Amino acid sequence: MLEAIQLNFEKEKEIEERIKVEAKLQHLSRQDGLTGFFNRRHFDESLLLELRRVQRESSELSLAMLDIDSFKLYNDTYGHQQGDDCLKTVSKLIQKAVQRSGDLAARFGGEEFALILPNTKVESAYRIVESIRESIIAQNIPHKSTEVNDLSRVSISAGIATLKPDSHTTASDVIEPADSSLYQAKADGRNRIVSHS
Ligand code: GH3
Ligand code: MG
Ligand code: MG
Repeated sequence: MLEAIQLNFEKEKEIEERIKVEAKLQHLSRQDGLTGFFNRRHFDESLLLELRRVQRESSELSLAMLDIDSFKLYNDTYGHQQGDDCLKTVSKLIQKAVQRSGDLAARFGGEEFALILPNTKVESAYRIVESIRESIIAQNIPHKSTEVNDLSRVSISAGIATLKPDSHTTASDVIEPADSSLYQAKADGRNRIVSHS
């Protein structure tokens, strides 16, 4: 009898441990190793959920794409390790500005970040992203080979798209205009934000 209780207890402990490990793995599979941000996979899932939620609330969603300027030249000049450190610093500054519950910051690709801002009009989205751009400039991370004129430090460019989703709205309906705004910001000289709504 005692032995049976003991066995049962051990089995329960083992199951508890396994649940903990699985939860940790699940969390890791949604996280980017370098920055601790959510990864692309979690971003894709969240964007779809948020589009549907915002649609039910007849509200607006803003998506911002942020990209470090001349980052290839940064790596070429200072080395890959320092490039990684720069990415970590930039992601911390982004995280600081994205504090509202419901907002989500993710690493979209190499040196590109995406912010999902539900229930956020274009003016507010612009203010948030502008505060990030300014905080990165204020951090004064040297970048002597940047293509941004007269800056010599790390900067970002960003594109914002804002829309009121309907039942047909897809992820690319918001990613594409944000991406083309980002492209425009780069073409206009970098270290700036272009919005599209
Ligand atoms: P632009 O201003 O037009 O954005 O130019 P760019 O050089 O930033 O853009 P490009 O897409 O040409 O290069 C991106 C670089 O980012 C190339 C790649 O080596 C670097 N990169 C991507 N992911 C990582 C990373 O995890 N660590 C480091 N150190 N570098 C990375
Ligand atoms: Mg870049
Ligand atoms: Mg890029």
